[in-house]
Amino acid sequence: MSVRVVARIRPLLKTERDVDQILTEHAGADEKTSIVKIPNPKNLSEEYSFQFSSVYGQESTQQQIFDAEVSPTIKQLFQGIDVTIFAYGSTGTGKTHTMRGGRALTDRGMIPRLLSSIFRKSKALEKSSNGDTTVDVSMSYYEIYNDRVFDLFEPPEKRNATGLAIREAEGGKTVVVGLTEEPCSTLKEFEVLYDRANANRSTGATKLNAHSSRSHAILCVKLTMTTPTETRVSVASAIDLAGSEDNRRTGNDKHRMVESASINKSLFVLAQCVEAIGKKQSRIPYRESKMTRILSLGQNNGICVMILNLAPTKPFHLDTLSSLNFANRTKKIEVKEVENEPIFKGPPRQATGTSGTTIQRQPLR
Ligand code: ADP
Ligand code: MG
Repeated sequence: MSVRVVARIRPLLKTERDVDQILTEHAGADEKTSIVKIPNPKNLSEEYSFQFSSVYGQESTQQQIFDAEVSPTIKQLFQGIDVTIFAYGSTGTGKTHTMRGGRALTDRGMIPRLLSSIFRKSKALEKSSNGDTTVDVSMSYYEIYNDRVFDLFEPPEKRNATGLAIREAEGGKTVVVGLTEEPCSTLKEFEVLYDRANANRSTGATKLNAHSSRSHAILCVKLTMTTPTETRVSVASAIDLAGSEDNRRTGNDKHRMVESASINKSLFVLAQCVEAIGKKQSRIPYRESKMTRILSLGQNNGICVMILNLAPTKPFHLDTLSSLNFANRTKKIEVKEVENEPIFKGPPRQATGTSGTTIQRQPLR
């Protein structure tokens, strides 16, 4: 199983009515017919074609993308498989719109829809098991800004300037040390927490997009499923990456340049990792940025969907081409679809000199 890469082209904004469009797409039923085309910037009569698992044009809705790309992963999440959904693209291409979305019900992004589905499925599972199975949901939410990790449940004035530490946990997973974990059991509770945390996100005005965020935002939703015999934990991560644009063209001042350089560094390391994985090199430079340590594409066991956000217009030409090239390499990464080990809760064991819980592989259901 490889990383599933899907492309989404956003519609024209009101301010773009007179701007030239450069992308054409074909939203086919499979990879062979799902294509994005873009002219060669050096020779406009020549066109490059990129194939993806699926391609969504300007008219596509949040509902369509959720139903086809995110909803199918929820079944696996409940089987103990971790799921990562991330949005990649230049600033202003629709990453936040796709992940978070707007207030109106139809505008809601992948994240609130994912939570809504998780809560619905949890309640159905608890009901059908007559209370034998319980599902607890909790969330943590943090950003990586200038290669430092900050808990978004902490207000900015309470932040330690150096940020939180990260370390390797068992199973090769990377964890952030000391993150707040907020339990939540309804969509309403989730929304209150999520809105409050988003207000803590670092934002700054750049020439490309006044409200665009300059940080990577990572939401982790932890599911703990408990039956009389075992406890199984799985995590859904939804990531809104910082803009992948070239900082030479954003007209940044010095302070912004520092931000931009470090954002670009982590995305640059991500691109190097993707390249190294593609070439089956033994050394993948994950450790060179916090974002890549956390994302650890191809090292994590689980399912991974990357949504490549694209703007259809000419000012994005070079950035769009570089995003398409990046995505083209990403889709070749193999991801192992492995269930997390359940923690088996049998009867108390006889004293044998060892302590602790027995780990057994046993599928839930
Ligand atoms: P990013 O997070 O990648 O910087 P945004 O999500 O902020 O980009 O989107 C940039 C602008 O485009 C916003 O005004 C947003 O509302 C709009 N937009 C993006 N995608 C869509 C879409 N699919 N439908 C309507 N408007 C969109
Ligand atoms: Mg954004």
